[in-house]
Amino acid sequence: MTTPDLQEPKSLSIMPQDSDTTEASPTCPLCKKNKSTSFPISYLLDQKTFDARKCLSCNFVYLAPRPTSREIALMYSDEYFLHDGADFGAHSAQDYETAARLGSVKFPEILGWIKKYQTDGKFFEIGCGMGYFLDYARQHGFEVSGIEFAALGANACKEKFGLEVLQSSFEKYPVKENLYTVIFMGDVLEHFNEPLEMLQKAHAMLKSGGIVAAEVPSMFNSITGRLAVAGLNILGKTKKMPMPPYHVNEFTPRTLALMLKTAGFGSVRIVQRIKSPQRITLRGNVFEKTTKKFLQYPNFYITRLAGVLGDRLLAIGIRT
Ligand SMILES: [Zn+2]
Repeated sequence: MTTPDLQEPKSLSIMPQDSDTTEASPTCPLCKKNKSTSFPISYLLDQKTFDARKCLSCNFVYLAPRPTSREIALMYSDEYFLHDGADFGAHSAQDYETAARLGSVKFPEILGWIKKYQTDGKFFEIGCGMGYFLDYARQHGFEVSGIEFAALGANACKEKFGLEVLQSSFEKYPVKENLYTVIFMGDVLEHFNEPLEMLQKAHAMLKSGGIVAAEVPSMFNSITGRLAVAGLNILGKTKKMPMPPYHVNEFTPRTLALMLKTAGFGSVRIVQRIKSPQRITLRGNVFEKTTKKFLQYPNFYITRLAGVLGDRLLAIGIRT
């Protein structure tokens, strides 16, 4: 549901959590309040259900309970990650690589936005996957390094591109204060159990005037997503997603901007992007696939012309 253009792979950049506890009364990962209402999607892992909740204070949508460190380790082990059987993303190292390469079509646009703010300096990518975007940024004037949780990705970064990439979770990564000019996170924030705290950490690592750029899917901001949620709410049904709970957070333009501001970033800008109808990943039954394909055409032009209803969001914030 969240793979970008041409089935770009599932993010390899997921961090294990230190706590194995699950929450009886879920706390909103953004505003930290604990009043929420149901949101009509759920995921399943090992016969355990992860329901989506919508915060009544800030409208942030998140899964509760959060996956434990054991469950995260399971979901992102090479074996499970590449062969999970879900109708989702890549299913082998070769597919993953192909998808990573094809995903590079969006690099000029993303780096173009970053270059409006910073044109050189130290560029750090959190969850750099196989290193394609880091390599691209290096070719365009940045001094690059990164961190990647999955061994598959971290090894590829070193072997393929000779990149300076550490294999680790970002939670365990020591803060290097005031060091970086740009910190980029592509398809990462939706996976963190503590996305706000990770943005705060990135904030501390940036120099004054440096920027964070975070790209996330926004499944329920598109026309199809909005209609699906409205329809499910009317019917009183919950959609069981055919994949493990890789995405524990669902962002809208508003909640993404709020999270950056709460983490301390200033001049926050949200760019709404959209996949072209030829490149979307279709799942579900014939009706769902046909409807999504059909609606993606008007949605595509509306987003391109008016900057609304996008299915991808790029947030940029400045460390002031
Ligand atoms: Zn909240």
